[in-house]
Amino acid sequence: MKSARKTKPERHRTFEERLSDRLRSRKIEDVKLRARQAQGKIRRFVNTNLRKQEMVAALALRRGECNRCGACCELLFKCPFLKKNPDGTSLCGIYDNRPNSCRLFPIEKRDIQEVRGSCSYYFIERPIRLGKAS
Ligand code: SF4
Ligand code: SF4
Repeated sequence: MKSARKTKPERHRTFEERLSDRLRSRKIEDVKLRARQAQGKIRRFVNTNLRKQEMVAALALRRGECNRCGACCELLFKCPFLKKNPDGTSLCGIYDNRPNSCRLFPIEKRDIQEVRGSCSYYFIERPIRLGKAS
């Protein structure tokens, strides 16, 4: 049976109705993002430990450098090893022994989408081939 829910034209809706719709859609977006982050964590864990050749190829497309924002250390939850410097940058408490998935973040373009634009890395579409010297 089809849903009988009717939507009023925007101009006839009360402020409370619009606010509640906006909050609902924000909650849905948040749930979707958290689901993507959970998938991303599992994907990176598996890939960085079991698919090293593919990781090398993926990282060849990465450009830029880390701004130490720490956003990748707060995906889903704040990592207990994350430390904040007085200047706002972040520090890993186990830097030399951090897991491969931390060491290599971000590996693909979609990893960046999980940190809501905080990451200063970016990806090019395909590797640049150097031409033969004439
Ligand atoms: S182990 Fe270090 S690099 Fe990895 S999430 Fe925690 S603080 Fe960040
Ligand atoms: S999100 Fe990107 S820029 Fe920020 S700490 Fe992680 S790797 Fe570095």
